[in-house]
Amino acid sequence: MPATYEELHQRLLKEREELMAQLDGLQGKVREEGVGYGNHMADAASEVFEQARDISVRQRIRHALDDVVHALAKFEDGTYGICESCGGIIALPRLEALPSARYCMACQRRMEGTGGRR
Ligand SMILES: [Zn+2]
Repeated sequence: MPATYEELHQRLLKEREELMAQLDGLQGKVREEGVGYGNHMADAASEVFEQARDISVRQRIRHALDDVVHALAKFEDGTYGICESCGGIIALPRLEALPSARYCMACQRRMEGTGGRR
């Protein structure tokens, strides 16, 4: 059964909630770890490593969240499903696979081909 825009909208809303919950979880974790600074050098080093990893995870979630929020804004504008580069219609199967897609497959490929700009 093909997805409808309404279904995609619901999926995006759900995805936004999940991403926000993940961000909250990470922030809570960092706060808890900050309290427990001991006097073991090894612990401090692995804690720094953990935090650096958390930060990159958080950045990835933020980027995903940006895309989802952006897609939801396009719903508000009535421009959802329209490629931001060529103005063409983004194929439904592509939106099904990636509801926050900003570009049609052809534009995405072209951009990836020229240095991977998003
Ligand atoms: Zn396009």
